[in-house]
Amino acid sequence: MPLLAGYHRPETLDEAVALLSQPQHIPLAGGTVINADRHRSGYVGVDLQSLGLNNIQFEGSSASIGAMVRVADIEHTFPHDLLGVAARRELPSTLRTIGTIGGAVAAAGQESLLLAALLASSATVTTADGKSTPLDEFLRSPSGLITTVELHTSTDWAFEHTGRTPMDTPIVAVAGRRSSSGPILAITGVSSVPELARSLDEVEQLIPFSDFRGSSEYRHHLAVKLSQRVLGALS
Ligand SMILES: Cc1cc2nc3c(=O)[nH]c(=O)nc-3n(C[C@H](O)[C@H](O)[C@H](O)COP(=O)(O)OP(=O)(O)OC[C@H]3O[C@@H](n4cnc5c(N)ncnc54)[C@H](O)[C@@H]3O)c2cc1C
Repeated sequence: MPLLAGYHRPETLDEAVALLSQPQHIPLAGGTVINADRHRSGYVGVDLQSLGLNNIQFEGSSASIGAMVRVADIEHTFPHDLLGVAARRELPSTLRTIGTIGGAVAAAGQESLLLAALLASSATVTTADGKSTPLDEFLRSPSGLITTVELHTSTDWAFEHTGRTPMDTPIVAVAGRRSSSGPILAITGVSSVPELARSLDEVEQLIPFSDFRGSSEYRHHLAVKLSQRVLGALS
């Protein structure tokens, strides 16, 4: 890892937290984002792989996923669910075996389909201090070492997307799940992180960004049309 100035591999959560309280020390999970940067840095990596954060536990329709669970494991554990479908489209297969759910939450990509699936699944993020925060709140103000991501699954879900090719990262995608309080939509490609919406009215209020793949107006049009389809499938 030429980009990091130092490396630690703690065996306990307390040790990891103590190391991460030092300046320039950052969590190192799969490293797909950290190692994508080819410039030298002054960062010291605190490798999370020996902390036992790689389990998935189920209780009824809820699941608790350790931060070091790989994207590929999510794909295989939830093959017929929104989570598995989103995980399978997140990265090339080689990177899915390396990238983790904790890294995906912390990196918070605006086009992350896994993040959208988690948002639509009412995910909460638990950090090493024991605090649990709804994922949308966490994304607005991320802090702390993520230990687990908890979520609710249900058989009622839908996923719609538009991209330049069927397997390209979608320009806009909408992940939706029916919850006990109604449908929850999460939309990628409209804001700096996937946006949550509970109705078509909320989707219509969005003012997406523009880039070479789509103007704000085009992204807005896609968000509304795809949300209509998802809501139709969930009704
Ligand atoms: C070239 C390339 C660029 C990418 N760029 C992005 C991008 O910009 N945004 C995006 O969403 N996805 C991006 N991805 C997808 C990324 O691979 C996935 O989001 C993946 O799941 C990240 O997980 P990781 O374990 O590899 O993270 P890492 O690279 O290990 O870490 C990513 C970030 O998350 C922090 N982190 C990791 N684990 C934790 C934890 N448990 N608690 C707190 N912080 C933690 C790290 O300190 C770092 O800042 C990119 C992939 C590639 C190949």
